[in-house]
Amino acid sequence: MTAKIDKELCTGCSACIDICPMDAISLLDGIAQINEEECAGCGVCVDECPTGAIRIE
Ligand code: SF4
Ligand code: SF4
Repeated sequence: MTAKIDKELCTGCSACIDICPMDAISLLDGIAQINEEECAGCGVCVDECPTGAIRIE
């Protein structure tokens, strides 16, 4: 299970980056991207995203 970002919905606000306990998210060209090697699939970022851009798959 890893987090996936909907690039159309992400505003680059960084809220998910600040909350991720695994430090698995970074901004690339103003859009969040998940490091799938680091992501633990915990889902914390899903609740933190104000635009609903993250889902767990
Ligand atoms: S699911 Fe958890 S570990 Fe993965 S990116 Fe979101 S907060 Fe980080
Ligand atoms: S919290 Fe949502 S909108 Fe903000 S950077 Fe993360 S994925 Fe993008």
